[in-house]
Amino acid sequence: MKKVYLDNAATTPIADQVITEMVAAMKNFGNPSSTHSFGQEAKILIENVRRKIADYLRVSPAEIIFTSCGTESNNMIIKSCVRNLGVTRIITSPIEHKCVAETVAEMKNRKNVEVVYLRPDKKGDIDLVQLEEVLKQSDAKTLVSLMHANNEIGNMIDLKKVATICKEFNALFHSDTVQSMAHMDLDFSDIPVDFASCSAHKFHGPKGSGFAFIRKSSGLKALITGGPQERSLRAGTENVAGIVGLGAAMELAMKHMKEYSEHIIQIKDYAVKRISESVPGVKFNGRSSEHSSLYTVLSVLLPFKDPMIGMKLDMQGIAVSQGSACSSGASKPSMVMLMLLNDEELNTTTPLRVSFSHLTTTDEIDVLADALQKIAEVII
Ligand code: PLP
Repeated sequence: MKKVYLDNAATTPIADQVITEMVAAMKNFGNPSSTHSFGQEAKILIENVRRKIADYLRVSPAEIIFTSCGTESNNMIIKSCVRNLGVTRIITSPIEHKCVAETVAEMKNRKNVEVVYLRPDKKGDIDLVQLEEVLKQSDAKTLVSLMHANNEIGNMIDLKKVATICKEFNALFHSDTVQSMAHMDLDFSDIPVDFASCSAHKFHGPKGSGFAFIRKSSGLKALITGGPQERSLRAGTENVAGIVGLGAAMELAMKHMKEYSEHIIQIKDYAVKRISESVPGVKFNGRSSEHSSLYTVLSVLLPFKDPMIGMKLDMQGIAVSQGSACSSGASKPSMVMLMLLNDEELNTTTPLRVSFSHLTTTDEIDVLADALQKIAEVII
């Protein structure tokens, strides 16, 4: 059975070039904190990647702090804003990734931080007028945390607009950029965002490697303490091979960004067309079928209820995400779907996230569309 991987928003296959560079880096076993040549060779590998990433974002290398993943980056930023920068109010949305949502909830429950949720509309968009109104309401030291591209429906915020509003009201701005980083050009010399996050495995790099972008003047402090690594912002001997893998994946993504994005946009348009033909009555959630959304993600709303659909597709070798968190055997709608769909829709439809990479082919979309057609014919 030929397998079809359409879950690239969860993770992407690691590129061969990335593996090659990581293996070479692993042989360079020195501890980057050692002052002898073994250590310094490893240190140079890390600093080269830092410079490469800083160039991509048009920031200073000192503003890139390597971490183990997007989750750690987001945790560090939010927690340190509360602990070290005096933040007492967080403005966020109910459709953030869990690593932001749960960290914000923890700050509310354990640190008495006031949390204001900006409710998205039925298309999944955040109202920036509402953001301004909430910002106006209080002089409390505020952090705004809004993701750049939603991992379930692909809706995007205008990063520059939000960052500019935050600046106007003297609020700090953090954006979870895990799904957009290395998929589009981000110029942080032009976008006044204070903090952002990145995860290498979302763009054909290794798992367990990411970074936090931390604006130099911010005053943020480490979450993980016990050493001077990463300018004392993240203690612990560096994951040299992971960082080299992140750099290699970033370089490939930058070099091929135009070609990859054009291919994936075509694939997504083809998927919208083929799935619409194969499943009458199908809809697409949020703005995911529009070109304004993140091009790698398509959120499908099947016009029938089938909690087993992910498993049925998996049995045919097709990997997608069901867009729902399963706990104790029961399938629960995700927070995003709860925000977007009414009770009737929640009871009669099934969301499915299909996500692409430059490796995705139209043949693979045909396999998915045909499989969905067969499932729909049995159920409807
Ligand atoms: N933020 C978003 C939007 C994501 O999609 C993910 C991963 O799915 C994360 C954060 C977490 O990243 P990581 O897997 O590197 O912890």
